[in-house]
Amino acid sequence: MRTSCNPAYSEIPKRHASYATWPIEDLPPVDDLVRAGFFYTGTKSIVTCFYCNGSLQNWGPNDNPMIEHARWFPHCAYARQLCGDELYRKIQESKRAQQERARANESKDRAGPNDVPNTNAPSLPRTTNRRQLLIPDESTLSKLVAARLDLPISQRLLDQNFKLSIIRQCWTDQLRIKRDDFESECDLYIACLVLRKQTEHIDVMKENIVIPSVKMKQIREQKARMREQTFIVSKSSRFSENSVNVTCRSPLQ
Ligand SMILES: [Zn+2]
Repeated sequence: MRTSCNPAYSEIPKRHASYATWPIEDLPPVDDLVRAGFFYTGTKSIVTCFYCNGSLQNWGPNDNPMIEHARWFPHCAYARQLCGDELYRKIQESKRAQQERARANESKDRAGPNDVPNTNAPSLPRTTNRRQLLIPDESTLSKLVAARLDLPISQRLLDQNFKLSIIRQCWTDQLRIKRDDFESECDLYIACLVLRKQTEHIDVMKENIVIPSVKMKQIREQKARMREQTFIVSKSSRFSENSVNVTCRSPLQ
């Protein structure tokens, strides 16, 4: 297991103390949030995981912090351990199903709120897009990306000879722009494929790009080499003339 991002809040009493100013109305019980690994940031209803540094806000009173934790931060080893393998798997399945339903609804251009009952897991809230990943700065972003590089879907792309830099860039762009994970493994795969194509194209173009200062240096060096060669040739030809002369005169005889 990795070490925690916020070790100051790794103990339950420390997390509990952070909720001194928590606005209680219509929010999940503090005990549930604390047990789920969250400490209070002091702002609105934003809480952060001591372990993975993931933040959530806009809580409903019936939300289950542990489930939301595992749902939004599937890479968090603490949340996963808390849920247990069976529940963790169900949460991920349910998230996928909800995303597919949301996508289907979008394509049907359906009006009105999504009030389809969640038959897969009744304890889960029905929202999909209500919460987004909170990414206040670049270091949080890079931590979130790093955690996603450990996921099996990223590892499988490495096995398919995608460069780590490509996979990392795709995750970074996705989280920065969408503030959410890729909806499926296929989406990540396609993003990597497109980026790799673009990168290859740029590499080919690079060979044809002329940088004036570099090009001028090359030309100067080439000229200098040519002058040197000319010099050597003329000197040696003079030398051979002399040597011929010397032989002819042979003053030592
Ligand atoms: Zn976490």
